[in-house]
Amino acid sequence: MSAPAPLLRTRRVGRLIVHAIQAGGQKLDGGAMFGVVPKPLWERRIAPDERNRIQLGMRCLLVEHDAGLVLIDTGAGNKEDAKFYEIYAVENRGARGPTALEDGIIAAGHRPEDVALVINTHLHFDHAGGNTARGADGVVRLAFPNARYVVQRGEYEWATRTNERTAASYLPGNFVPVRDAGRFDLIEGEREVLSGITALPTPGHTPHHQSILIESDGEAALFVGDLVPTQAHLPLPWIMGYDVEPLVTLESKRRILKRATDEQWLLVFEHDAEVPWGRVRHDGKSYALVSEPAAAPAAVPG
Ligand SMILES: [Zn+2]
Repeated sequence: MSAPAPLLRTRRVGRLIVHAIQAGGQKLDGGAMFGVVPKPLWERRIAPDERNRIQLGMRCLLVEHDAGLVLIDTGAGNKEDAKFYEIYAVENRGARGPTALEDGIIAAGHRPEDVALVINTHLHFDHAGGNTARGADGVVRLAFPNARYVVQRGEYEWATRTNERTAASYLPGNFVPVRDAGRFDLIEGEREVLSGITALPTPGHTPHHQSILIESDGEAALFVGDLVPTQAHLPLPWIMGYDVEPLVTLESKRRILKRATDEQWLLVFEHDAEVPWGRVRHDGKSYALVSEPAAAPAAVPG
């Protein structure tokens, strides 16, 4: 088994160059990924393996902003033991860096040291696991030593006060070292964190989950995170069983997908193993992807 490919997809959003980095694969139970949707419906969109698991990606977004490199989410990292990565079928080993994420940053022509800002949609291990990395000496350090890290204050508090249902998703090594180093900027509600980069609260998956809007020269892209993890999750009731507040997710999706359709936003799908991004339309019944003509890959450097 190997991680979903390609490692890197690059395009422009307005003036900004953005790189979708496939920071590895993971497999999760298909039923859990689609909540109340019956299997005969979801298996037509993503076929399960013999253990009923579906192949997912862990896509991160690297934005070349005037103020420096911005990285949205960090994949599953390298700090857990082999059994942990096996349970979730995480395939994210790096050839050059600790994980495929660092490989992707290098393939885009940059270095982890160049990342100025890391934004976490939320702090689950498959989104914030790469905030820190274990070195060859066994010591855990910040994976982006010169970056500040941004997350919603409520998400940080939720991650540090877990219960029996939420604890397995929040591994302290992914965020406590960032706090201890004084690198977290804990924000509250909608906030422009850099010019043209805005955190939009999209609660439901967790109570303080956020999606990240990138705007430049009249174009916009939204990194939706776990609000719409794959393009198969575009229909409003296709909501993960993992969500702690599924009816809140429903309202977040209704609001965001309406805006995305009206304002022609490009959506970036974090967990889709194949489709990195796309625009959406409503066909009168449901939201679906608008198929885009393939862009010429030579248009941008890196
Ligand atoms: Zn996730």
